[in-house]
Parts: sequence; structure tokens; C-alpha cells
Amino acid sequence: MVVAQRFGQGHRILVTGGAGFVPSHLIDVLIDRGCTVVAVDNFVTGSKDNVAHLADHERFTLVEADVSDGLPNHHPAIAERFDAILHLASPASPKDFATLPIEILRVGSLATLHLLDRAVADGARFLLASTSEAYGDPKIHPQVETYWGNVNPIGIRSVYDEAKRFSEAATMAYHRYRGLDAGIVRIFNTYGPRMRPDDGRAIPTFITQALRGEPITVHGTGAQTRSICYVDDLVRGILLLLDSTETGPINCGTEHELSMRELAELIVSLTGSSSEVTYLTRTADDPEMRRPDLTLAQERLGYTPTVGPEEGLRRTIEHFSQRLS
Ligand code: NAD
Repeated sequence: MVVAQRFGQGHRILVTGGAGFVPSHLIDVLIDRGCTVVAVDNFVTGSKDNVAHLADHERFTLVEADVSDGLPNHHPAIAERFDAILHLASPASPKDFATLPIEILRVGSLATLHLLDRAVADGARFLLASTSEAYGDPKIHPQVETYWGNVNPIGIRSVYDEAKRFSEAATMAYHRYRGLDAGIVRIFNTYGPRMRPDDGRAIPTFITQALRGEPITVHGTGAQTRSICYVDDLVRGILLLLDSTETGPINCGTEHELSMRELAELIVSLTGSSSEVTYLTRTADDPEMRRPDLTLAQERLGYTPTVGPEEGLRRTIEHFSQRLS
């Protein structure tokens, strides 16, 4: 399956959460394609630094606003019609689940509804960044899109898991009953340059600890697994879905699975660090295994990830070592 490019020169794209890690990489490619991009962000977890290189670009506008309150329609860049709306705004790190729980629920519910209404009004394609967390602590491995998940609705992670599940339900309802052209991507663990070193996710934490020669703190026994996807691969997958007419949900990530212990050891070896790997108490409801079944992404979008963990981690370590020095 080959998906032809649908969005490029002359198209206006709205990206919520545009100053975040994944969205900023996505914007770089959209700008390279010739799109005009309007990013909206309240900087709750993102940073202007991530898009600073685009500050003077004639086809890029950064608008500061909380999308849970609705779009600031008085802003001239927002008032004009969009061809596509990509909803990526949301704190996404497990650390944020405890510090920004209400904000996460609002952006996964109120903001999604505001943006869906706007997409219908504009006749725009709508793309929702959902998550592998929609599967909760999965009982099926690897996770296939037809699996409904195993989520604790009142657990510590529920603010994120359930907000994304609500976003998916809302997107499907607008697709079914309002004729919205919509796509849902379920994103699996992604890493790369521009992640926050202190965001609490395993890769930036381990890399920062290794570069500083501090103990690497693995939660639990470290036997729990994740598949880790380099950000360039994810961005390619998201854009394939955007360009297609698929609704999904479609998984995006890599099938290469690592245990947290293996990941910690690989990072120690790639950084040449003297850090020791230590083990802390496991966090509640932390999924045991997570790996996407990518059959649908391959069949419908022609998506195959290309960057292996060593190469991706090398690039990420280089970025973090420059940033930390
Ligand atoms: P990130 O925190 O770097 O980016 C999210 C951005 O959204 C930030 O810039 C933040 O300031 C902004 N934001 C949050 N709430 C907002 C609001 N109410 N109004 C305006 N802006 C707001 O996180 P990321 O890892 O780049 O994640 C981007 C998207 O991808 C999120 O929706 C996340 O749920 C999803 N996702 C990411 C991963 C991953 O591994 N990185 C995995 C699954 C899903």
C-alpha cells in the first residue's frame, strides 16, 4: 500500500501541543513539505525552545493558549480555515499523571470536543494522537487494534488512559454522526531529541543519569518490557495516516521489544558511563508488557519503522549530552 501525499504546499495545518516533543518534530516535516503551520500551546509541558528555529519562518505561527478553553478565534492565524487539525496537546509522562491530572482530563475531553467542532466547521481532516495506554495493562500481547484493553478506571494512570479513550470515542462519534474525516493513531513509547530530561519517562531519565554518572533507577525488577520507537519513525507513521483516508485506530511504533533492564544496560554501554543499575519500587498499574502489532499500519499505510534502538539511542544521547553540557 502506497499512500500519496495529501497535505503539502498551500495547506493550512493546526497542531495542538506544537511546542512539545513529538509535535515539534512533526511540524518540522510539515514545514519542509510547504504547509503553513499554526501551533497552539500553553507550555505546560512543552517549551518554546523546541520550535525556536522556526520563530521567524513565514509559514509558522506559535499561539499561546490553553486549548481546553477552546481555540482563541480572535487570533488572525486561528480565524482562517484549516485543511487539517492535529490534536497532540496533552501532558504524556507518567510523572504528569500525578501533577497535572485535571489538566490531562480537560485536554483529553473539552479540548478534543472543541477541536472536533472546529474540524467539522472547516471541513478539515482531524487527526487524534491517542496512545498505547488505551490498552491499559494488556492481557493480549502484542496489542492489536481490535483489543479493547484492560484499564483501571480509577487508578493513578486513569486520568490519561481514560481521557484518551474518551477522545477516541468522541472522534469516532464525530466521524460516524457528523461525517468528519478523522484518523486515530495509537502511539507506542517514542523517544528522541527534545524530550525533557526530567520528564520521568525511562529513556530521558536513564540517559541523564548515565551522562551524570548517577545510579540508573529502574522501577521494579526491570523485567517489564516496552517497544521503543525513534521519533522520526513515529512522525512518518503519523503523516502517512494524515495523508490517508483511514480512520483507524492504527498502532504506530516499533515491534522491537526491550526489558527496562536491557534498556538501562544498553544506555550505560552506549554512553560509556560508570553508572550502576539500581532497582526502585514499581509504580502502580505499570503495564507488564507493551508492543504493538503493526500489521494494520503496514497493510493500510505501508508503514515500517527503520531506526533501530542503538542508532536512535545514539542520536538521542548526542542531543542530551550537548544539552547537559
Ligand atoms: P509533550 O508533553 O512534549 O507535548 C505535549 C504538548 O502539549 C506540550 O507542548 C504541552 O505544553 C502541550 N499542551 C498540553 N496541554 C495543553 C493545553 N491544554 N493547551 C495547549 N497545549 C497543551 O509530549 P509528547 O510526548 O510530545 O506527546 C505528544 C502527544 O503524543 C500527546 O498527545 C501524547 O499523549 C501522545 N503520545 C506520546 C507518546 C510518547 O511516547 N511520546 C506515546 C503515546 C502518546
